Amino acid sequence: MRNEGLSVYLHVPFCAGKCGYCSFYSEPPEAGDVAAYLDALAAEIALWRGLLGPLSPRTLYVGGGTPSLLSPDEWGRLIALLEGLGDWSRLEEATVEANPSSLSDGLLNVWRASFFTRVSLGVQSLDDAELETLGRRHDAKLALEAMERLARSGLRMSVDLIFGIPGQTLRSWAASLRGVLDAGARHVSAYQLTLEPDTPMGLRSPVLPDGYPLYRYTQWFLPRRGFTQYEISSYAPPGGECRHNLAYWRQEDVLALGPAAWGYLKGRRYANPGTLDAYLEAAGRNFPEAKTAGERLGPRARGVEAAILSLRTRWGIDRADFAERWGVPLLKEIEAVLMAIPPHLVRADERSLALTPAGMRVGNAIWSEVLCLL
Ligand code: SF4
Repeated sequence: MRNEGLSVYLHVPFCAGKCGYCSFYSEPPEAGDVAAYLDALAAEIALWRGLLGPLSPRTLYVGGGTPSLLSPDEWGRLIALLEGLGDWSRLEEATVEANPSSLSDGLLNVWRASFFTRVSLGVQSLDDAELETLGRRHDAKLALEAMERLARSGLRMSVDLIFGIPGQTLRSWAASLRGVLDAGARHVSAYQLTLEPDTPMGLRSPVLPDGYPLYRYTQWFLPRRGFTQYEISSYAPPGGECRHNLAYWRQEDVLALGPAAWGYLKGRRYANPGTLDAYLEAAGRNFPEAKTAGERLGPRARGVEAAILSLRTRWGIDRADFAERWGVPLLKEIEAVLMAIPPHLVRADERSLALTPAGMRVGNAIWSEVLCLL
């Protein structure tokens, strides 16, 4: 096992309540839940340390759920547990997700005093009516105050926004984009609203507006402010890309910790127990599935997956690297698929195969063509 260059993802499974569109696993914490979660996490970290030896993480991402729901004291314990994984001197980036309704100066101080470099803030919109439609627990004023606090902290600010919300207009979307940049965002993730049928909004089945014009606007506006679209949903000035997410798109090893977390180790994709109760129960048995569970993809499936993940990014498929890892025949098959779609969607040169901005707008349709190779 290669312990250097590993990325670590930790899932914090608590939220104050459920947003109307959310299908991620999270629960409101009851008395004792956070302490029990941290005890189980200590056991999981000790297990992986025993299995893999001391780790030297390159990136860390703490997501959820709402990591900012934990108190500064609870965060102090969480950071001490993470430190127990090994040597953090080679860390390049550590991100924590936060919600505007729970981002405090106390938390920012704890994060800044440890190894965190970056905060990903779930703003989603700066329009109160849209936030209400989404069932968020904050309004635009609270989001602006949280961004101001984060900007003052000196930690790098990444902001999540959602487009395609019922009632949203191009004007309101443009105002949200402008507002987060003016507040100091150095990275923007812009996601189109999609609804799973088991979410409160999905059950109501609202008619979602066409997000295509808003996506086009984003691709036009953010580059004018110095942000490059480096992935289907991600924009940053050069050098400001999220390195942790690049690890996923490059199929690098990611150790998953916490309930419902997904990881990828040595070609094996695995998921931790999907609920807090199941996670606590597995911790009581010292996580017997950790060594064996998961799905091991064959080389062809991994190659096709690598192609699709690379095509999400602006760098696309590096021909020489892909041919070395997955073979020239598969590269030729993928190239044939891409050459059969309209030429303005694909950029092909001697070094790489990548989607153009127009291709990124219809990425899902292109992935399904590549998936036909399986
Ligand atoms: S805060 Fe995030 S994880 Fe929690 S319910 Fe809302 S969208 Fe889901």
